[in-house]
Amino acid sequence: MSKIKQKITFDHNYSQNFYSKKRKEKDVKFIILHYTGMRNELKAIKKLTSNKSNVSCNYFIRSNGRIVQIVPEEYASWHAGISRWKNEKYLNRSSIGIEIHNPGHYNNYINYPKQQINSLLKLLKFLKRKYKVKKNFILGHSDIAPDRKKDPGEKFPWKFLSKNKLSIWHQLNASYLIKKRGKKLNIKKNKKFNNFLKKIGYRGYKQKSLILSFQRRFRTELINGISDEECFLIAKNLIKLGI
Ligand SMILES: [Zn+2]
Repeated sequence: MSKIKQKITFDHNYSQNFYSKKRKEKDVKFIILHYTGMRNELKAIKKLTSNKSNVSCNYFIRSNGRIVQIVPEEYASWHAGISRWKNEKYLNRSSIGIEIHNPGHYNNYINYPKQQINSLLKLLKFLKRKYKVKKNFILGHSDIAPDRKKDPGEKFPWKFLSKNKLSIWHQLNASYLIKKRGKKLNIKKNKKFNNFLKKIGYRGYKQKSLILSFQRRFRTELINGISDEECFLIAKNLIKLGI
């Protein structure tokens, strides 16, 4: 067990799955959040540290809140795969990957325990400061790989993170937004909405996949892959806030 900063302690369980070329601090621009999507936590750690799996992450957050370092930060771990955000592609080298244990959509998806999110918060605060990561560059796997991934999913507390300046969120009133849910966009507005998505960072995949990812992140009450007035207003507001 070592100390990252005074209040953060973590265990080690090293993986050999990483690029051997060391990177510089300035190379890290993103932090990507995942869930493990496996029922068993120890099996998930085993997979990330097995040299047969070809996957890894830099940090793993257990359900009880304990943090495990899997790959030291100066090495790019293998967590993102084929991915894109804005014009950045294949984000492994430019990001730190954090796996948060949760069985996920296909294994009885559960709410993230409080102690797990508290540990994540501490770790994110530390990493954001260290690498000067912008809050809009703290992303979910589904944001950067919309055609393949759903993690960390709609149960992940993005809004709570945004209150701690660790992610972005809109400033619109919920009771106002709900009235706009499901209202169809006209052609002109739909085009505008697609441009909003592009501007936020969602690019390079089928439009429906991009919309699904946007909803999974910012409009979790209805994830149907169809743009509507509510999605339009949220995207517009995010851009107004300077994303
Ligand atoms: Zn993932």
